[in-house]
Amino acid sequence: MSGVINQHWHFAIVGAGLSGACLALLLAREQSQWNILLIDTQSPAAERDHRASALSASTVDVLQTMGLWPSLKDKTAAITAIDVSDRGHLGSASLNATEQNLSAYGHVVENAQLASVFQQALPAFANITYIKAPAPTALKPRQGGMSLILEQGDCTADLVVLAGGEHRPLAEQLGISFRTDDYQRVALVANLTMAEAHDGLAHERFTGDGAIALLPLPGESGKRVSLVWTLAAESAEDMQKVAAEDFIVSLNRQLGSRAGTALEVDYRQCFPVKKIIAAEQVRSHLLLLGNAAHSMHPVAGQGFNLSVRDMATLTELLSGAYNEGIAAGDLGLLQRYVKLRKDDQGRTVALSDKLPKLFGMDETLAMAARNLGLVTLDLLPPLRQGFARFGAGLMARRAHLRE
Ligand SMILES: Cc1cc2nc3c(=O)[nH]c(=O)nc-3n(C[C@H](O)[C@H](O)[C@H](O)COP(=O)(O)OP(=O)(O)OC[C@H]3O[C@@H](n4cnc5c(N)ncnc54)[C@H](O)[C@@H]3O)c2cc1C
Repeated sequence: MSGVINQHWHFAIVGAGLSGACLALLLAREQSQWNILLIDTQSPAAERDHRASALSASTVDVLQTMGLWPSLKDKTAAITAIDVSDRGHLGSASLNATEQNLSAYGHVVENAQLASVFQQALPAFANITYIKAPAPTALKPRQGGMSLILEQGDCTADLVVLAGGEHRPLAEQLGISFRTDDYQRVALVANLTMAEAHDGLAHERFTGDGAIALLPLPGESGKRVSLVWTLAAESAEDMQKVAAEDFIVSLNRQLGSRAGTALEVDYRQCFPVKKIIAAEQVRSHLLLLGNAAHSMHPVAGQGFNLSVRDMATLTELLSGAYNEGIAAGDLGLLQRYVKLRKDDQGRTVALSDKLPKLFGMDETLAMAARNLGLVTLDLLPPLRQGFARFGAGLMARRAHLRE
């Protein structure tokens, strides 16, 4: 194995989660001359992740270009309408995709399915070497590249991409700092069977203590949904442990009549909710990607979607630079990427941060603001259009990838 690794790579991607695997595929199809090392400490994430992701229109567009959408489409459920409500308050908003000339607001896929489509696509590219290996112990900047110190020996790359999610020791060793905002909340995730068919309707319900999202899942019954219930840490721990019947009773109390009735719950998994933003996303021959660069509150379902837009722009820039003879780790090139992605990243992180804060407060003013916000959203078509375009990822510049 060490003989395979100890060479110079165009790209070494550390972390083969959704972001790392997707970038490897994007790069591999963009330029067959590029050789790409993809390393993870664990076997494919598929079995460990019980979340589902709402893929925005911009993500579906990229997956189409990559040729992966045909194998994914049947594993997704389209969100054709969204109901936003506030428990115990008047405000609510109903958004309908057809009103906004969209076929869907997004497509929901279980992360396990998405990860497995990526994993199955990797072997088709001879220019990707994918290995499971102990975590690299260090990174060392070198003239014309970056060395990656691995148990099997060292290798160098024009560009090392850190895509290890919230495991950031390599970046920290290099002195890269992170701004953390701990919401003191935990997202409890599970799949539910509801009494009613979802018919493509997603729910976002704010409860005072946090938020509940119900996303439609594919399946013949049309009654399976993915739950993301954001709770205070102790409540989440209790809710993860209680018997399924008690869980269902507590959940139904929060859902009220708008969001339907849950009948069954499967495996429950918890994720701490934090905003963690890297102070630097690039250095010479180094780039931070996905959650390693920006983790955010899951309320708006934007984390992976934002990363896909990052990756598409990065791939476009790298390809253009390659054709002009500019190395992938060139700092000027990487800074151009940061500049191009700044607005979209800033907007997406800010909205994911503000929504739960506004809806988490009980003060009268905040209550008035959020009810007014929901009522206005319900009444004013331009606002609804803006909200929908944001969610679909259509406010950002569209990257040009090899067709
Ligand atoms: C409850 C919840 C719901 C969400 N819903 C949505 C949604 O609807 N839509 C959306 O777009 N986003 C959503 N997100 C966000 C999305 O899940 C994340 O943005 C995405 O999973 C991040 O992927 P990643 O590959 O960057 O990181 P990760 O998924 O954390 O993957 C990191 C990988 O790196 C590996 N690794 C770690 N350290 C090392 C190392 N030192 N060496 C080698 N390998 C290493 C790990 O084993 C792992 O495989 C949600 C998040 C949460 C918490």
